[in-house]
Amino acid sequence: MERADPLAWIAAEADEWSRRGLERRLVPRRAPSPGRLAQAGRSHINFGSNDYLGLAGDRRVVAAARGAAEAFGWGAGASPLVTGWTEAHDDLAESLARFEQAEAAVLFPTGYAANLGTIAALVGKGDAVYSDRLNHACLIDGARLSRATIRIYSHNDAGELEAILTHDRGRFRRGLIVTDGVFSMDGDLAPLADLADLADRFGLALLVDEAHGTGVFGPDGRGAGSECGVADRVHVRVGTLSKALGSMGGFVAGSRILIDWLINHARPLIYSTAPPAAAVSAAHEALAIAQAEPWRRERVRSLGSRLRQNLIACGFELHPSDGPIVPLMIGEPERAMALAKALHEHGLVVPAIRPPTVPSGTARLRISLSAAHTDEEIETLVGALQSRFRSKGT
Ligand code: PMP
Repeated sequence: MERADPLAWIAAEADEWSRRGLERRLVPRRAPSPGRLAQAGRSHINFGSNDYLGLAGDRRVVAAARGAAEAFGWGAGASPLVTGWTEAHDDLAESLARFEQAEAAVLFPTGYAANLGTIAALVGKGDAVYSDRLNHACLIDGARLSRATIRIYSHNDAGELEAILTHDRGRFRRGLIVTDGVFSMDGDLAPLADLADLADRFGLALLVDEAHGTGVFGPDGRGAGSECGVADRVHVRVGTLSKALGSMGGFVAGSRILIDWLINHARPLIYSTAPPAAAVSAAHEALAIAQAEPWRRERVRSLGSRLRQNLIACGFELHPSDGPIVPLMIGEPERAMALAKALHEHGLVVPAIRPPTVPSGTARLRISLSAAHTDEEIETLVGALQSRFRSKGT
């Protein structure tokens, strides 16, 4: 007897997804040099990578990965508390703690896992998580996983958060404010000084996800907390090794007691295999380079300012943002996809970001810059945007 396919529902739902212009596909690419990628034999300027400092392909970073793979083997072989934590992991955790001016740091398999596991280890039933409406998916998922009550405040609206906290006073056992330091799809900074004040006033912990801040923002490259002058008031600093540090893995920096708690209670750290020593050593080298070569963060930030000025001079209305992420708001997903396709034909990769990654009606082109981009590449981008938008009567 023929049985009905229990996954048959997917075809109908996938058709509807595609009809709404939301379908995604994996496209194989190579990165022949920082700031560029090759696809189907053609070279494109890559404005769709988070390799902000141009370190993912740096030969020193690659050599560090190779050296560690030779010394430790490729896979870590076990979770950190079993036998997966090597001297390379320990050395990087120590360097990250020093860099963050924190008592301690620990590594996770990814930045996603770091946020997920940390939030779920710090709050639970009877507690509250206060979350910006535009927070990254891993902060949202961490809050959901924790089973704490989730209170969402409007994007960057510390006034609204204050009203919510006033209303909630005394209702929960513990509270945690969670925010992206630099918003991943908007490129703007959280009002961290205001959030740190609220955390103090209401006796809450503040967790900042520095995924897009580390290496790029702040006079010392520590991130958005440092840029806002409040890094030492952020109790839980989460970062990733996968963006400015050009590698793979996540970390948390903070007090010794916090880190020891996470080592004992953050489930993705405890139950996932440790990241490969090669990835860890590559990130370690990238961290050293990021600190020794501050021109990289200065360069990417000055490219960001130049791009914004040029786009404004061409008549684009820009959403407020700072640093390497420059979103161009489009609206409907189909239109964002058509523009990304047209730019691709010009030799430029500028990803269209669509719901559910961003709220409905706010599909956008997300331009992300790297210290490896040249002035000419920025001019090519501005010229291509100008001609595409003009030719569409925008
Ligand atoms: N937080 C934010 C704000 C991010 O944008 C990302 C990556 N998209 C992550 C966390 C996850 O980092 P990772 O890629 O290391 O898992």
